[in-house]
Amino acid sequence: MILAPSHASPERHLSAALARALAPRKPLLVSEWADLHRRLSAKGSARPGQWRTDANPPLREPMDCLSARSPVRDVVCMWPIQFGKTEINCNAVGYTMAHNPGPLMVCLPGEVSLGKYIDQKLGPMLEETPAVRATLTSIASREASNRRDFKDYEGGQLYIEHAGSPARLKSTSVRTLIVDELDEFAANFTGGDDPLTMLEGRTSAFPGTYKRLYISTPGIRGLSRTEMLWLKSDQRRYHVPCPHCGELQPLEWAGLKWGPHATRVHYLCRECGAEIQEHHKREMILQGHWEPANPGARLRGYHINCLYYQPGLGPDWQTLVELWLDCHSDPARLKTFLNDRLAEPWEDPSMRSVRHNLVADRAEPYALRTLPDGVLAVTAGVDVQDNRLPVQLIAWAPGPSLGTLRSWAIDYVELPGDPAEDAVWTSLTELLNTRCCAATARACTSRPPPSTAAATAPRPSRPTSAHAASAGPWPSSAPCPTTPPC
Ligand SMILES: [Zn+2]
Repeated sequence: MILAPSHASPERHLSAALARALAPRKPLLVSEWADLHRRLSAKGSARPGQWRTDANPPLREPMDCLSARSPVRDVVCMWPIQFGKTEINCNAVGYTMAHNPGPLMVCLPGEVSLGKYIDQKLGPMLEETPAVRATLTSIASREASNRRDFKDYEGGQLYIEHAGSPARLKSTSVRTLIVDELDEFAANFTGGDDPLTMLEGRTSAFPGTYKRLYISTPGIRGLSRTEMLWLKSDQRRYHVPCPHCGELQPLEWAGLKWGPHATRVHYLCRECGAEIQEHHKREMILQGHWEPANPGARLRGYHINCLYYQPGLGPDWQTLVELWLDCHSDPARLKTFLNDRLAEPWEDPSMRSVRHNLVADRAEPYALRTLPDGVLAVTAGVDVQDNRLPVQLIAWAPGPSLGTLRSWAIDYVELPGDPAEDAVWTSLTELLNTRCCAATARACTSRPPPSTAAATAPRPSRPTSAHAASAGPWPSSAPCPTTPPC
């Protein structure tokens, strides 16, 4: 806005200010807001200063899905490292705080990544971007409204959580949810909760306006949650025109060619076969666009790889080829290259021949705690955990040849309680004294195998009344000592 000249009357000055204050705010896209307001700090960026979306055009469309007027609700980005994943995150956070306020959560895999995010990205973004800083209701670090992992701002709150705190994750409702490195979440979740289900529940109070963004490099094929989301998405890849024939195509690792010792690295156009040099790349990317392979899917998905790194923002093609030649014969390092640079899930070749349903195919139905015919004995394996005793009951019967045994897992129970207290041991005693039903008219109780009892009982003197600790050597093929014998 141009300020009123000094000779303007006070009334004109006042009305101009009022008009500005009352004028409807022009709705901006996330990329437009970032180009106007976002400042990159030297603390967290190789190129400090004003943000420019044109410096890395593939970021524009995924970022704009987080805009207030975009109809897109869920976005998954299966991306390589060093491709601006965290910058998308920060731009979406800044935009939501300064332009489209509402409750907002950023979720990271663990405490370490959370600390790094706050110190290297969020903190500098808040410091360097006045438009965002001005929204904070307090900048005093001692205020409850400005904790390290919580910021109160005009029109909303920003929660920063990690997968190691599922209790807090379960209790917060937000309109915008940003999940960084989704594939690392599963390993950090405790209590058997499904990370995706729990995270999706955070936005259920905003059915018509929520936004969810998942950004991650993928992990192992078939287990990667990012890949699962990607497969359900509309699967967009960034298509760029060949500088020789104009054919639009995504850049793929298979298209990169090189001579001996990683010399003469170039890309081969899939249409005309002409050599594309790396110096063509910037212009090609500028003229490119995202193209869905699965149009119509509700979930928006973006996948890109290291061939699209802009000069100065990641390794060039020659360096990538050298990295490839260095690691391609070592499965562990090859996995890292595939996940981190190509953003492809890793498939272990030795697992291809494994039929995942093989065990299920061989299973026979039977009722729990019911002994099949021919059972000689039942053993109980007891593990001692800090807050429970997991118990598995196994029934044993003669095998098809002399000296062999067949077994059935007839029950598995977790007894909650502190092993230092009596209550859980009393529960164990009751469990072990409970008779198992026999398929025919027989029954028995169970005793743990001696090795388990000796290895896991924390206080051998404690459960004197429990079957578990009173057991002496008891060969699994011997009859159960309780009556009637099995
Ligand atoms: Zn071509």
